[in-house]
Order: sequence, then structure tokens, then C-alpha cells
Amino acid sequence: MSEATASRDNGTEPMIEMTGLNKWYGDFHVLRDIDLTVQRGERIVICGPSGSGKSTLIRCINRLEAHQQGGITVGGITMTEDIKRIEQIRRQVGMVFQHFNLFPHLSVLENCCLSQIWVQKKPRHEAEKLAMEYLERVQIAEQAKKYPGQLSGGQQQRVAIARALCMRPEVMLFDEPTSALDPEMIKEVLDVMVELAREGMTMICVTHEMGFAKTVADRVIFMDQGQIIEEAPPETFFNHPRSERTKLFLSQIL
Ligand code: ADP
Ligand code: MG
Repeated sequence: MSEATASRDNGTEPMIEMTGLNKWYGDFHVLRDIDLTVQRGERIVICGPSGSGKSTLIRCINRLEAHQQGGITVGGITMTEDIKRIEQIRRQVGMVFQHFNLFPHLSVLENCCLSQIWVQKKPRHEAEKLAMEYLERVQIAEQAKKYPGQLSGGQQQRVAIARALCMRPEVMLFDEPTSALDPEMIKEVLDVMVELAREGMTMICVTHEMGFAKTVADRVIFMDQGQIIEEAPPETFFNHPRSERTKLFLSQIL
């Protein structure tokens, strides 16, 4: 058993723990003293003005961005620069991006199988079977042979969610998954996310869909200028925001 595996305590530890996290892009201090603990099964919504560091924060969780100070632990595994550790962490984390990031030259089915075959070393027939199961779940199985460019934005985003789920992640990160979509497609993606939340998936969603936040979030976190300004259950957050910055933000989006 590897050291990192041995240190896991059977799922009772928080899913994600960030302590004293600081990050700079060159001279620009983008994340300031972030402390955030996410329990298994928790659903977190992160909101805040453009440029406040929301994407950077969640991208640090699977090391798409490196932080300079503080600690991150995911599923009991502490992030270091060791690529083996980073891979162990990445295996637990699924991510969905604003612009879907599907491989345009691969079919929907192949998009969902690629990492299963090359990263998880699964036989193709097993990978395809699981991919079809998840494509069914997001109600797009009949499009499996098509290429991303032949699908609507809402359909592509549902494929992206299915692709992430095929890796059987412990936690799903969503970075503004509906903000590139035409209004009529937002609901079909949010419905999939609500369903996932109901099934107990641990989720961190950067989104300004406040209806979604009210429906599924256990906690809403408001970020501004690289800091967590306020966090509260949705009821408290929306009806009794404490900080003036939160009030101003809510007045602009609601
Ligand atoms: P948000 O997701 O809240 O809009 P981001 O995390 O994308 O915010 O960005 C936070 C700030 O960091 C912004 O001012 C942005 O311009 C800057 N930034 C983001 N990525 C980089 C980068 N790779 N290099 C330099 N600055 C960056
Ligand atoms: Mg962003």
C-alpha cells in the first residue's frame, strides 16, 4: 500500500480541506488566506464578481493551478509537487468547464471512453458499457456516435458531465457550467446537476444560477478579490447577507 493510500481513513475525513491557501499570478495576489472544508456529500455553490478568483480556487483542487502557500488535502491525500500524489488526487476529482472542453475530433462515446481506456486501463467494451450508462443518465445516449460539433451547447455540456462521471469521481467541480449556454439550454444541464446532488455527489459549483443554489446548496460561498467574504446556508445567504459587498453583488444579479 502506498503511503498516501495508507493515510486515508475510510472516508470519514473531509472530502476537501484547504487551509491558509495563497496564490499569486506573478505579482498579482489572486487567492488570499482561503480556508475551506468540504465534507463528503456536501454541495457548495461559489459565487462572486468576475475576476474574484473562483475559477482559480477550484482549479487548485486538482492542480490545474499550483498554489504557493497553504495546504490542500483531497480525500485524505495531501497535495505536494509529487506527480503521483497529484494523480491520486485527480482520480478523485471530476471537472466540468464553462466551454465543455470535449475533444472535437472524437465522437461522444469516444470522449467518454478515452480516459477510462488510457488512464484507468479498462478494456474497451467495459469502458463503452459504462459510458453508455452515463450517457443514458444524462439522456443523450442516442447521440453517442455523433461528434461534439453536431450537438447543441446543452447537449455538449451533458456529455461533458457524463465523461467526468465515467471516471467515478468522489467529488465534482463545476466552473460556470451554464454560462456559455443559450437560456433555453440552461435547465437541461441544471436538471442533471440537481439529480447528481440528490444522489449524494459531493459538489463544488461555481455558478450564478441562484435558483440552483437555493435548491441544492448546503452552503453558498461569496468571493471577492481573492477572499472568501461570506459563507452561509442559502436561506441565510440570500435573506440575511451580512457584508455590504455581498448585498451589492446580490442586488446586481437577483
Ligand atoms: P473568476 O473565475 O472569479 O472570474 P479567475 O480565477 O478566473 O476569476 O481570475 C482571477 C484573477 O486572476 C483575474 O483578475 C484574472 O485576470 C487573473 N488570472 C486568471 N488566470 C490568470 C493567469 N493564468 N495569469 C495571470 N492572471 C490570471
Ligand atoms: Mg471563472
